[in-house]
Amino acid sequence: MIPPPDKKLSCARPVDPCERLLAALAGADGSTARGKTVALVLPPSPQLPTPGREFLISGPFEGFTAVATLVKKLGYDLKVLDCRPAGCENIDRAVKELAAADIVGVASYCDSFVFLQALTKALKEARPERLVFLGGPLVSSLPQLLLESTAADCAVLGEAELTLIEFLEAVLVRGLTDLAGIKGLALKTAAGVKLTAPRPQIQDLDNLPFPDYTVWPNYEEIVKAGQIIISSSRGCPCACSFCYKTIPALRVKSLERFGREVAYLKETTKFDYTWLNDLTFNADAPYAMAVCDILHKHGVKYHCFARVTGVSAAFAEKLKRTGCQGVWFGIESYDQAVLNLSRKGTTIAQIDAALAAAARAGLQARGLFIVGLPGETESSLKGMLEFIRKGDFIPLVKYLVPFPGTALYADALRTGKIADTEGFLRELSARRVGDNDDKIVNLTGLGEDLIRDYFHKIWELTREKEAV
Ligand code: SF4
Repeated sequence: MIPPPDKKLSCARPVDPCERLLAALAGADGSTARGKTVALVLPPSPQLPTPGREFLISGPFEGFTAVATLVKKLGYDLKVLDCRPAGCENIDRAVKELAAADIVGVASYCDSFVFLQALTKALKEARPERLVFLGGPLVSSLPQLLLESTAADCAVLGEAELTLIEFLEAVLVRGLTDLAGIKGLALKTAAGVKLTAPRPQIQDLDNLPFPDYTVWPNYEEIVKAGQIIISSSRGCPCACSFCYKTIPALRVKSLERFGREVAYLKETTKFDYTWLNDLTFNADAPYAMAVCDILHKHGVKYHCFARVTGVSAAFAEKLKRTGCQGVWFGIESYDQAVLNLSRKGTTIAQIDAALAAAARAGLQARGLFIVGLPGETESSLKGMLEFIRKGDFIPLVKYLVPFPGTALYADALRTGKIADTEGFLRELSARRVGDNDDKIVNLTGLGEDLIRDYFHKIWELTREKEAV
């Protein structure tokens, strides 16, 4: 059971001074121009999009938009370089485009490693004195390794906003070189990589500025497409052994703020469809239903993720009535022992109940599955296949990947299943999730052929069900 989310993180911890600055910025038109240019780079990705969901890969990422918005609000000139269209090949062109920036930040995702190595090396060769920093989930999971194996100087770890306020001010305005007193950083030093004190998460998400989509070079196209990714919360307190998430505590925006944000985004982006990015949308069902009402009021259709826990008839019907075009359930496995080993915190009965509630409400449901979780047996795979065959939902299956920072990654290192960490990151950079021939890190006692065989069978079922 997920503990209910806090409107604010309510522990008696003093508010980070940077959060006060963040709150002041959120209500302001913008800071005085600082005459410095911050470049933010979005790496390319080899991922194959789910058909009909292409914009999740090619559209404006929510977290990147939030960081770019903040940089602009702080009064820095902003240069966003989106390398997704050009791919990895164009490092020289990227270096030229970034030539005038005073500092360069590069986002890091699980499939970015090869690009990060190439780009940071080229950037430092071109201008050795200029600071290059990393941010995002990959470096937050593996700061030591990423700084040791790329030419980046430092990294902003975890939720970036509060750290960035202080970090950019120190480097660009005050000209400091000793950054050890700034929380939330990883620094490359003569004595190796050092982590500064951890930065607390933002306590009140209402302090975030509204996302500004004009930060994207293709803003006009975004408006034309009318599709953006938004969320009413950040984080997830669960600890599923396979889950690649770097923001632990769950917090929600106030409904009043969420309503104003949707109204603002309607005005600025004209969006009429959103992918709700909340990791645990239904952690607090009454709150989630109020979010649905707000979207409906603004004429926004949506998809959402949900856990199978606590999906009542009322919740499913609310989704259906308010323009939900589909709900994606994180099912993972249809075997209780496998679920337990994964610390998923769900039961077979809850899976059945959630899917039944969705079907009764007339909602389109997708079930997300992982093949190859620890504890998987031939019988569990057979059970998954049969469940999918009979079920009134469309499956989406992936091979297990022990992503950096997860409990399964730690296990894979300990047991030698991942022996070469850099090599593994290079594989992730080339890997296409959902590709039948993806490499497998086999954490089961089963043969790889058997795992692939069931994966292929489930893919066939997916195609059949999608065609109906
Ligand atoms: S899989 Fe879902 S519930 Fe589990 S930790 Fe990740 S986001 Fe949370």
